[in-house]
Amino acid sequence: MYAGTVVEQIDTATLISGATHPYTKLLIRAIPSYPSDGRRLETVPNESRPQSMTGGCVFAARCPEHLGEICEVGDVPLVTTGPRHEVRCYLASGTPVSGGPASGDRR
Ligand code: SF4
Repeated sequence: MYAGTVVEQIDTATLISGATHPYTKLLIRAIPSYPSDGRRLETVPNESRPQSMTGGCVFAARCPEHLGEICEVGDVPLVTTGPRHEVRCYLASGTPVSGGPASGDRR
């Protein structure tokens, strides 16, 4: 859940290896190891600034995998991507990104 919105639902047995939402993946990379493996913990970029209530992905302002304009308008649907796995992200849903930037043009 991010900013009061369910962005991914997945069973706990496959969470670590099967998460696909950018926010979930960042959270998993922020889990410290013990004993420490020496790596710096991942942080979620930008300050906590959820997307406006007028539409778009709630995680768009902080998403490192942002796809462009498509992420800024409308409601991103929660899509079933597998057994007991739902994701609210165009990357995971396979939704065509028509008119969006090329894959190398992400911000
Ligand atoms: S819909 Fe777009 S902004 Fe939202 S998590 Fe997916 S790639 Fe990032």
